[in-house]
Amino acid sequence: MVVRTIITAPDSRLKIKSKPIIDMDDTLQTLVDDMFDTMYSAPGIGLSAIQIGVPKRVIVIHITHEKDVLGPLVLINPVVLVTSEEKAMYEEGCLSLPNQFVEIERPREITLSYLNREGDTVEQKFSDIYSTCIQHEIDHLHGKLFVDHLSVVRRNIILRKLSKARRVARATV
Ligand SMILES: [Zn+2]
Repeated sequence: MVVRTIITAPDSRLKIKSKPIIDMDDTLQTLVDDMFDTMYSAPGIGLSAIQIGVPKRVIVIHITHEKDVLGPLVLINPVVLVTSEEKAMYEEGCLSLPNQFVEIERPREITLSYLNREGDTVEQKFSDIYSTCIQHEIDHLHGKLFVDHLSVVRRNIILRKLSKARRVARATV
């Protein structure tokens, strides 16, 4: 198991649309293991494969700071079937947008169809933080970041801050 490098914005790879998994092979199992290791070491509560540069529809989630009712989740080829009209607001962060936190409103509940790690099709309802986190990760699979939910002005302020932070970090090495 390997901790891989997380891509941070701005980076064109984060805009790629990820492709579905077709074979449930060893490469996929290794990818999932590495994604968990990378997410735990960051630390974060969710990670999509594209954040480590793999454009596949794979998400791992482990919400450890809540009641941790569901434990670690592996969501392969996820599709949102239903979204609730009711919304919930959470302050979101993203491992690809270090140190940026913004309140985003999303549907409070979603019904999701996905393949689990064993390749079984699962249909499951998620709510509150799980719903928010899964929608955030599915956005990554579509090449979208949470800042894309904001106005262009607010988005640019955040992206400029990140480019500047990166330039400063590079200059100090
Ligand atoms: Zn993210």
